[in-house]
Amino acid sequence: MTEETRPRRFVYDGRAEHFSCYGLYDDDVFVCRCGWSGTTKECATEYFESGLQQGECAKCDIHLWLRVVEVTLGEARAAAERGDSRAIRDLPNIERLEAKRQAHLADERRRREEAAERKRQEKRAAYLGDGWPGEG
Ligand SMILES: [Zn+2]
Repeated sequence: MTEETRPRRFVYDGRAEHFSCYGLYDDDVFVCRCGWSGTTKECATEYFESGLQQGECAKCDIHLWLRVVEVTLGEARAAAERGDSRAIRDLPNIERLEAKRQAHLADERRRREEAAERKRQEKRAAYLGDGWPGEG
């Protein structure tokens, strides 16, 4: 991939620009309809629990951009392969988190299976206790 022209310039056209985590650069320039223009870093920002970050015009609060903060391992790897320094910096951390997440999921799966098995046995014991004809 060839190096894209930077800094990029986004002129507000009535809708916020949407970006993936690595799709937005600190030096991207946003031009608001009120006349204000500034870089990503100069925008007022807000984080949402849904994992989104919003950038607003520093002067009139119009939403200029929206970025997905959360990065998947695949996205980080792809960006790192493209030479994105942020992804290269983040990758070890993301890989560690992903390994943790996988371990946690496996743990949860095991607990769920154990709980289901316990329930089956309890049910069976209750049936047998009631004189219910058991299986087999
Ligand atoms: Zn504005």
